[in-house]
Order: sequence, then C-alpha cells, then structure tokens
Amino acid sequence: MKIYLNGKLVDKEKARISVYDHGLLYGDGVFEGIRTYDGMIFRLKEHMDRLYRSAGAIELKIPMPKAKMVDAVIKTLKANSLKDAYIRLAVTRGFGDLGLDPRKCSAPTVFIITDKIKLYPKKFYQEGLEIITAKTRRNFPQALDPRIKSMNYLNNILAKIDAIKAGTEEAIMLTYDGYVAECTGDNIFIVKGGVLMTPPVEIGALEGITRDAVIGLAKKMGIGFSTKLMRVEDLYDADEVFLTGTAAEIIPVVKIDKRTINGGKPGELTLKLMKEFKELTKIDGVRY
Ligand code: PMP
Repeated sequence: MKIYLNGKLVDKEKARISVYDHGLLYGDGVFEGIRTYDGMIFRLKEHMDRLYRSAGAIELKIPMPKAKMVDAVIKTLKANSLKDAYIRLAVTRGFGDLGLDPRKCSAPTVFIITDKIKLYPKKFYQEGLEIITAKTRRNFPQALDPRIKSMNYLNNILAKIDAIKAGTEEAIMLTYDGYVAECTGDNIFIVKGGVLMTPPVEIGALEGITRDAVIGLAKKMGIGFSTKLMRVEDLYDADEVFLTGTAAEIIPVVKIDKRTINGGKPGELTLKLMKEFKELTKIDGVRY
C-alpha cells in the first residue's frame, strides 16, 4: 500500500511524520474523508472546496493549489489500484516546536491514505440502527466551529465513547443549549408529515457532502425540505430518522434512547433516498 506524503509516494510502513508535527501535538490540521465508487471519485470538487475552506478557517495555507491536490489524490488511488476506496486526506500545521505558535511550524504536512472502505454491517442498512443521545455536547461554534473539519476530533470521540458505553454505534450530539446538531461522524435527518428536515449547520454541525447530496435528491424527487431547529423530542416523534455520511452513506435509524421510531422499521422515504443515492454514486463523480 502506497501513501502520499509531502509530494512522494511511500510504502505504508515508511509513511511516518515527526512527533513534533502539530497535527499530532495539538490536532492542528484539517482533513477530508472521500469515497470512490467503481473508479469514480464522488463529489470531489465539494470535498476539495471544504478542505480548503476548513484550512482557511484555521489560517493554514495548503502548499499547493486544488488542481495539484486532485492530481495527488488520483496518483495515490492509481498506485494502489483501488476502484472502490475510502480516501483520507490530511493537511497538518507541520513540524514545529513544543509551543502552540503556528508561525514556528516550517511547512504543512500533506498526506493521503487510500484504502478499502469499512461500512457498518449490512444488517443495519436493512434493519436500521439504534442510537442514543450523547451526554457530551457538541462544540460551541464560537469556540471551535464544527463546520471546520479539523483534526481535533476529541469532542466527537467523547460522544462516541458515550455511544459505545450504551452499546450503540452512533450518538446524537446536542448543541450546548439542547438542540440536535448531528452525530459523532454523521449528519441527521428526520421525515415528518412527508417533509424532510435536518438541523441548520450554523448551530454547530459539519456541512456534510452526503447531507448536501441528499438535500439535492429530495428536491429532484419533489420531496419537501427545510432546515429545522429540533429537540431530541422531535426525533422521538418523527415518522422516519436517518443518518448521512461519506462512509455510512444513508443509514436508517429505528431506535433512539430506547424509543422505537416508525414501528422499528426503516422508513419508506429513507429507503427511496437510499436507492436514489446509490444511483447518484454511479454518475456523480470524477473518473480516474
Ligand atoms: N458530521 C461529522 C462530525 C463528520 O465527521 C462527518 C464525516 N464523517 C459528517 C458529519 C458527514 O459528512 P460527509 O457527508 O461529508 O462525510
């Protein structure tokens, strides 16, 4: 397996970065998780735009233009002969000293891992997922905006630990003032009275690429859509609930905090969107 590291393709075992890298010391960096389907990179432009936006938000200058980053991604995929892959692309502040000062870092570190994808077990897509509400609240946007896909994921990891302790795979994260924001690694949607709804990202959620794709599909399919501030009670009361993410795609939720949604079965609209999404992945991508 070859890894792209600072302009070179190196063997996985030799892909090493310094313990002085601020990505490691402080989680000072940004990243993307991208999927390829049968030799096509899904929504590549959107992922690149978000990566450069996240970097801009932390005043990290990525040392190459987007087109060169795309070339690097494709080069790495080809080197590993992968047609269905998960791409992890990261840019850290780079090698620095033991202080926080980003000005002391010589140059950003760029690495690209392409590997096989690990999805939730198939049964969750057929039968639906059980989730809980995490005790851990989502980062306050004025402290660390969840719209920045930074390498500082401890907030999400703490909520993931809440999920694991409850015996579930995912957990809902609320904003500091109790509104539903998103899950630890997925966005969340509900269907109520035939209308699709998801929290606005401004309250503290990542603007998911899959989220945007689902909103686009809903519009195309003539399904009503709006962003909505919701409490967890709105989820209990929903006709359907599902999660979206690059790795998860669309996954139905049938139980929240031990309360059954839609009689414990994936919803009709959720299943339709899952089908349409699968079709979208066959056409909406950059071939390599
Ligand atoms: N929220 C969080 C916190 C995430 O980490 C992710 C990505 N795994 C998502 C939502 C979903 O975003 P995307 O659809 O772009 O993968």
